[in-house]
Amino acid sequence: MFKCCKLLLLLAIIIFISSCKVSRVTTQPPEQQDSLSVKETVPTDTTVAVVQDSVEINVHRLLKDTLTIIGVGDIMMGTNYPDDRYLPPNNGAYLLEEVDSILRDADVTFGNLEGVILNEGGDPKYCRNPDVCYIFRSPEYMVQHLKDAGFDVMSTANNHAGDFGDPGRKNTMRVLDSLGLWHAGLVSRPSATFMIDGMKYGFAAFAPNNGTVSIHDLDEARRLVSQLDSVSDVVIVSFHGGAEGSKHQHVPRRNEIFYGEDRGNVYDFAHSMIDAGADIVFGHGPHVTRAVDIYKNRFIIYSLGNFCTYARFNLRGDNGLAPIVKVFTTHNGEFIKAVVTPVIQRAPGGPKIDHEGRVIRKLVELTEKDFPEVPVRIAPGGIITYIQDQNVTDALQGKSN
Ligand SMILES: [Zn+2]
Repeated sequence: MFKCCKLLLLLAIIIFISSCKVSRVTTQPPEQQDSLSVKETVPTDTTVAVVQDSVEINVHRLLKDTLTIIGVGDIMMGTNYPDDRYLPPNNGAYLLEEVDSILRDADVTFGNLEGVILNEGGDPKYCRNPDVCYIFRSPEYMVQHLKDAGFDVMSTANNHAGDFGDPGRKNTMRVLDSLGLWHAGLVSRPSATFMIDGMKYGFAAFAPNNGTVSIHDLDEARRLVSQLDSVSDVVIVSFHGGAEGSKHQHVPRRNEIFYGEDRGNVYDFAHSMIDAGADIVFGHGPHVTRAVDIYKNRFIIYSLGNFCTYARFNLRGDNGLAPIVKVFTTHNGEFIKAVVTPVIQRAPGGPKIDHEGRVIRKLVELTEKDFPEVPVRIAPGGIITYIQDQNVTDALQGKSN
């Protein structure tokens, strides 16, 4: 009987010690509580507690100090519709070779997939004359080139995603999935979450077009982004919006109507998404580059331009210039700096390094004109920094992390 009481007492002590350890672990900051679930990482926060003769080890994931996230604009590497004359030679394997080492050198690399991935068939949009009707159907082998060049995540929300109806959308998703490229933007796939090197990323993409997640429905977009924010370290938002062409390089801070279509109020949209928890906003759609903005210490670019657009695109003047933007953030997405690699496309297309750095000068000009109140500096070499006045930032923006 007495022996039994002693045993019970010992058991109670063990339970007490165990519960003390558990409560100590749960007082850590929330971002350090997640258990390591994928990829091998060296643990930085290892708690060892000895309870009687057993040893408990909790392994927590490593939070990287700095993340690098690359964004580029529109990608259409050639279309087999209306026929093969708009496909690049050698299956386009060479198209990204001058920039692939740059694209691979980041934690996450993003681009906008402009068009449909489909070898043949589908339901083409009605066109009276296919020669002057721009609808894009890229062969499946093109996606392997994207994978090989270092892309991790693609937007499928744009004005060409529905060019071949549902068969086109479904096959595009199937091929991206089969190669392990994350994607979002179609109504049937509004967002994606993924882990790279132990960091959790959330991604959502928006556009004003049928079948894509709407850039106009701000309430729904906010809901989606704040849900991603609750499960991710860094949330990347993509939008395809704004009027097109070199006459529309400025951000007007109102809805832009282009050929009778409301292409969104990209300024309001980007800021609303950051309010909802986005950390980086990559815009595209105008086929020219637009300004850079920093809001609540989060990075926005309003248009990344034509990045790799073969054969059916106007590449003259500013239409041929684009940045590869590499954004450096803290582990929770706060802006540290960005680096622009200037590229240029000459007809029929494919990005080449622009040793004259033209798009950097364009970014300086557009950003100074459109966002004079934002203390962002773009150096001639392409390094983007933000001069923070902490008092002003706190007062105006009130975001703590
Ligand atoms: Zn477009």
